[in-house]
Amino acid sequence: MEEQFKAGFAALIGRPNVGKSTLMNHIVGQKIAITSNKPQTTRGRIRAVCNMQEGQIVFLDTPGIHKAKNKLGDYMVGVAQQAARDVDVVLWLVEPSTFIGAGERHIMETLKKNSAPVILVINKIDTVKKEDVLRFIDRYRQEMEFAEIVPVSALKGDNIKELLSCIMKYLPEGPAFYDENTVTDQPERQIVAELIREKALRCLEDEIPHGIAVSIENMRYRRRIVEIEATIVCERESHKGIVIGKGGSMLKKIGSQARADIEDMLQKQVNLQLWVKVKKDWRDSEFLLKNFGYRKDEI
Ligand code: GDP
Ligand code: MG
Repeated sequence: MEEQFKAGFAALIGRPNVGKSTLMNHIVGQKIAITSNKPQTTRGRIRAVCNMQEGQIVFLDTPGIHKAKNKLGDYMVGVAQQAARDVDVVLWLVEPSTFIGAGERHIMETLKKNSAPVILVINKIDTVKKEDVLRFIDRYRQEMEFAEIVPVSALKGDNIKELLSCIMKYLPEGPAFYDENTVTDQPERQIVAELIREKALRCLEDEIPHGIAVSIENMRYRRRIVEIEATIVCERESHKGIVIGKGGSMLKKIGSQARADIEDMLQKQVNLQLWVKVKKDWRDSEFLLKNFGYRKDEI
């Protein structure tokens, strides 16, 4: 009998710095999440879509079950709770160690209340001796029951194929959720667009009657810097002049305020380039829509 196509959701949880973003990047084969040595750099839900012959895995890269203390606090907590609930399988990424601290215990308590199967992923095995890995596995086994335990190195790509096969076992049969060209829906872009829009509206102080929309044209993650190109869309030529300001002063003001906030959120240096475009007769609903969809050809 032929195997049926499978599709489902996998939540990726774990303490900051354990390698969640690195694992996502490795799996989808391109940078989608921000990696760094600083904890908590990934804010918000980052979905990566992994397409395979046997099926499709939609990953939720969340800050885990920790409460986020930032401006997006409420958004984050909701996302994290949802992530642990509405998925077919939970991947819990841990450091290769026999030490189980308060953070791990807190995560385990939450997982035990959850019905989704849990795959324990022991990451960074390239940093430890092979023979020690068994000890870590045994240590965790004593604590709770796992559907699977898979040691990997997200950085080197070791054992990732095996991990994907493991995940696939727990997904239901069904059609794909996303087009096979989709790798991520990049919600970080949404947040960035919102931040720019918020700053623009504040700086403009109701000077623009029909509001504006912000579209992110490009967001490239370099090693030390994130390069962002964004367009502020307004309805009239006269509005465009106001947004740009005398000698570009207003646009500069919006840009520098937005950049500070984006850097704060991404925990990275940001190079922000802003453009202004006129698009006539935008309806309000359309403005809203455009703030959450960024295809250049749509503008
Ligand atoms: P996150 O906070 O869980 O998203 O963690 P990141 O993916 O940002 O990774 C944090 C740090 O751990 C980065 O410096 C990564 O390069 C490093 N890292 C991630 N996975 C591995 C791994 O398998 N081996 C090693 N040696 N380092 C890793
Ligand atoms: Mg991360």
